[in-house]
Amino acid sequence: MATILIVEDEADIRELVRFHLEREGYAVLEAADGPEGLEKAQTQLPQCVILDVMLPGMDGFEVCRRLASGETTAQIPVLLLTARGEEVDRVVGLSLGADDYVVKPFSVRELMLRVKAILRRTERGSRAPTLNRNGIVLDGVAHCVSVDGEMINLTATEFRLLEDLMRHPGAVRTREQLLNTVWGYSFEGYARTVDTHVRRLRQKLGDKADMVETVRGVGYRLHA
Ligand code: CA
Repeated sequence: MATILIVEDEADIRELVRFHLEREGYAVLEAADGPEGLEKAQTQLPQCVILDVMLPGMDGFEVCRRLASGETTAQIPVLLLTARGEEVDRVVGLSLGADDYVVKPFSVRELMLRVKAILRRTERGSRAPTLNRNGIVLDGVAHCVSVDGEMINLTATEFRLLEDLMRHPGAVRTREQLLNTVWGYSFEGYARTVDTHVRRLRQKLGDKADMVETVRGVGYRLHA
């Protein structure tokens, strides 16, 4: 059963989330500040991190950035807890490598659904062993990507996004299709999530960034 790390300085929220996660059968780790959260993620390698943005010691963005740039931690999906109305927080968080976010005050039911969706898409794993397009090689078994022979560090979401595009070269993928296959669900107001992840993926692809083409008003496609 999956292990989930909750990083949150408010003890009552930690307890509430732990209670519901354990009731679903998950093993739960807790951390009350940024450095502790980072350390537990690095040493315990949980299957998912629920990460508050406002934390003592080191904020959630910094924890997220460090996880996304670490070789062993980049693949751990991160679900951010952001303050209400802080659209900036969400965009920044996603651009730093978070996979998803839930706005505080959140409903526990909603949080559980998001965690399950994250774990489902991680467990589903990769369907194609190796995809190779114009110097971009995606190895679905080793779960790594190289560009012109150089390994690049992708988060779990960026990996699935690239995999989806590479599986449909030359075909337009709408934001809704991408949300459904990459995130496991789709609802209004999430288009920007896709855009943020595509922007980040392009940065990591470097010279091959323009392999991911924008189809204005529709979505994205991989250059055939
Ligand atoms: Ca907090």
